[in-house]
Amino acid sequence: MGTRYVELLGMMFVASLWGWYEGSMLLLFSGCVLAAVAWMALDSWRFGQVLHWMREGDWANEPNLPHVWQLLVNKIRRLQKNLQSKAQENQSRLDEFLLAIQASPNGVMLLDSDGRIEWSNQTAFEHLGIDSQRDLQQHVVNLIRDPGFSAYLSKGDFQTEVSIPGPRTSASKPVVIAIRVHPYGIRRKLLLSRDVTAVQQAEAMRRDFVANVSHEIRTPLTVISGFVETMQSVPLDEAERNQYLALMAQQAQRMQTLVSDLLMLSKLEGSPIPSRQTTILASELIAQCVQEARNLSEVLTGGGHAFAIDQPQDVQLIGNRTELLSALGNLLSNAVRYTPAKGKISVSMRLMPEGDVQIAVSDTGAGIAPEHIPRLTERFYRVDRSRSRDTGGTGLGLAIVKHVIQRHGGQVKIESQMGVGSVFRLQFPADRVRQLS
Ligand code: ADP
Repeated sequence: MGTRYVELLGMMFVASLWGWYEGSMLLLFSGCVLAAVAWMALDSWRFGQVLHWMREGDWANEPNLPHVWQLLVNKIRRLQKNLQSKAQENQSRLDEFLLAIQASPNGVMLLDSDGRIEWSNQTAFEHLGIDSQRDLQQHVVNLIRDPGFSAYLSKGDFQTEVSIPGPRTSASKPVVIAIRVHPYGIRRKLLLSRDVTAVQQAEAMRRDFVANVSHEIRTPLTVISGFVETMQSVPLDEAERNQYLALMAQQAQRMQTLVSDLLMLSKLEGSPIPSRQTTILASELIAQCVQEARNLSEVLTGGGHAFAIDQPQDVQLIGNRTELLSALGNLLSNAVRYTPAKGKISVSMRLMPEGDVQIAVSDTGAGIAPEHIPRLTERFYRVDRSRSRDTGGTGLGLAIVKHVIQRHGGQVKIESQMGVGSVFRLQFPADRVRQLS
């Protein structure tokens, strides 16, 4: 600051020296005034330089000025640098925040006070079938044409959510999107969207499952309570009593089988992948299941089925013995139950070149129409309801088989021809097979 005034005084001193030299007081005085005016003009020009530099924002090319002006320029430069780094910091924080919202599996959309789209993450665009480039700043009601959504938005009660069909929904593959609006700020809205297709499907499956189980249990229960009532109210002779008790025992057995199949399924769903420490010989597995199938054939048809085993070599299967016995046992029990007496049931094992093992159960039963095959492993799905029930089926056997094999990393393949018979193949991956040396 001081040097600035030294400059002014210096200029005035030089001008007064000129008046003194000329010996004129007037010249001396006017010289001083002229020097002061010249200094003020120079100072204003420097001020103008600083203003121009600030206005242009050309921060890298700062003006080269003396005295206090340089100090001022330096101070402004430092402030500007601080502001710039803070702005950069804020911008990178905002970018990270937006990236996090982009990564969200839920759709997030910001609407302005008129309901126009201000910002949205990609998920919301996909959920709602909106074009991320073209549709920004458009009214959301013009883009989401579902009447339920329009009513929800105009009603303004955002305590609940609204479900609309997704843009890629179809009759065979329905997609459901749930939308919830949260008002904020001055008439602004935050719109959140979620794909609830899987949740709704799971809920529908749960409802179906409960309905199926209730239905399966209701029939034997009705039969048992009917017999109990009869036995309580009607005098019966010994033979009748024994006949009724046998029928009641049969129904109780049916409920017991259902409960044990349900427990097996829930155990399969809730337990970890089968250990690699336990093994079972394929020959042992096949022999044990075939023996059980022979016993069942004896009970149902008086041993009317012919059994054949084709196993050129033996291997060890790595996995859970009980589960594997249950899977192959179910296939053989089905073969017996759905093949009329005098039919042939064969079990064959093949070691594939890649090291996989295939165990096939073939029968000469009535066969299954092609439209049923993809649904056979669904719970409670039955082609022949009465035969299934009459032979003690629960409709859960193939669901158990599929679960067991998938838990062992394999798959179930079904082939069938009406009037010829069916083949159910269990395919085990090579890493679940130990070859015997
Ligand atoms: P279920 O207890 O009714 O046998 P499963 O899940 O084991 O239940 O089988 C589902 C349905 O698949 C059966 O109800 C039956 O209609 C059909 N099915 C299964 N195995 C055979 C087979 N070997 N031959 C013909 N139909 C079969």
